[in-house]
Amino acid sequence: MNSFDNAAFREQFPILKIKVNQQPLVYFDNGATTQKPQCVIDKYQMFYSQENANVHRASHTLSALATHSFEQTRKQVKNFIQASSIKEIIWTKGTTESINIIAQSWGRDNLKAGDEIVLTQCEHHANIVPWQIVAKQTGAIIKVLPLTADGFIDQLVINEMITEKTKVVCCAHISNVLGRINPIEKIIARAKQVNAISVIDGAQAIAHQPINVKELGCDFYVFSAHKMYGPTGVGILYGREELLNRMSPYQGGGEMIKTVSFAQTTFNDLPFKFEAGTPNIAGVVAFSAAISFLQDWSSDIENYEQKLLEYCLAKLTTISQIKMIVEGEPDIPLISFVIDDHHNHDIATSLNVYGIAIRSGHHCAMPLMAYLKLTGCLRISLSAYNTFEEIDYFIECLDKIINQEDSLPQLTENNNQLSDDIVSLFSKAKGWDGKHREIMMLGKNLNRLNKDRRNEKSLISGCESLAWLVFDKNNDGVYRFTADSDAKVIRGLLVIVLAAFNDKIAKEIHAFDIERYFEQLGLIQHLSPSRGNGVHAIVQRVRQIAR
Ligand code: PMP
Repeated sequence: MNSFDNAAFREQFPILKIKVNQQPLVYFDNGATTQKPQCVIDKYQMFYSQENANVHRASHTLSALATHSFEQTRKQVKNFIQASSIKEIIWTKGTTESINIIAQSWGRDNLKAGDEIVLTQCEHHANIVPWQIVAKQTGAIIKVLPLTADGFIDQLVINEMITEKTKVVCCAHISNVLGRINPIEKIIARAKQVNAISVIDGAQAIAHQPINVKELGCDFYVFSAHKMYGPTGVGILYGREELLNRMSPYQGGGEMIKTVSFAQTTFNDLPFKFEAGTPNIAGVVAFSAAISFLQDWSSDIENYEQKLLEYCLAKLTTISQIKMIVEGEPDIPLISFVIDDHHNHDIATSLNVYGIAIRSGHHCAMPLMAYLKLTGCLRISLSAYNTFEEIDYFIECLDKIINQEDSLPQLTENNNQLSDDIVSLFSKAKGWDGKHREIMMLGKNLNRLNKDRRNEKSLISGCESLAWLVFDKNNDGVYRFTADSDAKVIRGLLVIVLAAFNDKIAKEIHAFDIERYFEQLGLIQHLSPSRGNGVHAIVQRVRQIAR
C-alpha cells in the first residue's frame, strides 16, 4: 500500500499553483532543477530578515547566529550522506564546481603524462570538461567506459578499462539522460584494486535515493542542493578527510587561510581550506530546510515516484511515434525519447503552449548523444509532486500536438512574406497559443534549402538547433536571404526575421528597427533566452553579411 499523500506534498510548493500561458503549470523538468517548498522559501527569507551577517568573521550576535545556522547545515549534510566528519563536507556552488575543485586541486598535483582518467559514455559535461582541462595541463589521457544497448555501463569491460594506469575514475551515480543507476559499487571496488580514486557525480541520485558515502566507499561524492528541493547556488563536495588533507586549495582568499604574510601563507584546516571568500550563506541555511523536508517525506516518495514512472511509460507507449532512446526501463522517473518525424524543439515549445515544461536538446551530454546517434532528445523528469492526472494531460496534449503538427495547412507559396504581412498576421493571433501556431505554420511552409547549401559556411552559430543562412545580392545591391533549420519553430522564426530584411539594400537592413518589429509581434518575451539569443544570432548574421 502506498501511504504517500501526494496532495499534501504538492501543497508545499507554491509555484505549482501558477499558470503558464493561461494553463496550470505542469512541471516535468525536475532533472534540471526541482521546485522549492514553502519551508525552504521561508528559511531563505528568515535568514535575510533575521540572521544576515557574514560567517566565521565577527564577534557580534548576528554573525554568531549566521555561523551557527551555516555550520548546523553542514552537520545535517554530514548525517544525510553518512560521512564520517564535517571536515569532509565542503560547500561549493554546485556539482559542477565540486568536480572542478577535484580536477584542479587533486588532479594537477597527482596526474602526470600517460596517467589515465576513466570516464563513462553517459557523463554530463560537468564530469567531462573539467577532466579534459586537467588532462591537457598534465598530459593525462581520458578513457571512456562504453554502454550496452540498454544504456548500462558495460560491466564486462570495467576490469579491462580500469587498470594500473588509471589514476581516477569518474562516474555519474545516475545518468541525467538515461535515468539509470550505474554500477558504481563495482566501479569503486575496481578503482580501489588499482589504487585509483573514485569520483561519483550524485546530481541526479540525491533526490531519489538514500546515500551512504561510507558504505559506498567512494573517495568523492558530489551533488547540488537545487536538485533536491533546495536553493540554487549551493553544492556539496564530499571527500574523504585523508585525501582532502593532502590536497592543495583550489582558490585562495579570505577564510581559507590561517596566517598570511607576503613571504608565506598557511592554509586553514578542513573544510575551510577549500572555501575561499564569502559563501552562499542564505542558500546553505535554506538548504537545511530542504534536507529536513526530504527526510520527512523520503520513505514514501520512492514508491510513489516508481508508480508515476510506470504509469508514464505505459502511457507513452500508446503513442506509436515515440521511440525511447535506449531499451528497457529507467530506474528513476526520468524518461528520454524522440518522436518520429518531429523535432524535439518543436514538441517542447508546443507543450509549453499548454503550460507543460519539459526539456529538449542534448542535455549537456553531447558525447552520449553522439554515441546514440542523436542530435538531441526530449526528457521528462518527474517528482513526487507530479500527479497521474498531469501525466494524462501531458499525453493528451502530446498526442494533439503530433496530430496537429501533421495537419498544419500546406501553403503553396510562403517564401516572400513582408514584415507588414507578418505583423498583420500576428496581430490577429490570439495569445501565445495563436502566435506559436503561426510560427509553426510559417516554419512548416518554408521551402527547405538544398542539402549541399546546408554546410559549415552557412551554419548560424548561437542557434539552439541547426540553422543555415545563404544569400544572393543583385547588381543594385539588393539582398535576398534564404534560410533553413531542422526545427519547424526555428524555421518559422527565420521566416519572420527574413521578412524584415529581404529585398533591401545594406543601408535599409541596418536601418530597420528589428527590436520594435519583435515588440510589435509580441515575440521575444515568449521565447526562452536561448531561443531569443538564437533569433538575435540570425539578425546579427544578416547584418554582418550586409556590412
Ligand atoms: N551532473 C549531472 C548528472 C547533472 O544532471 C547535472 C545537472 N544537470 C550536473 C552534473 C551539473 O549540476 P549543476 O549545474 O548543479 O552544477
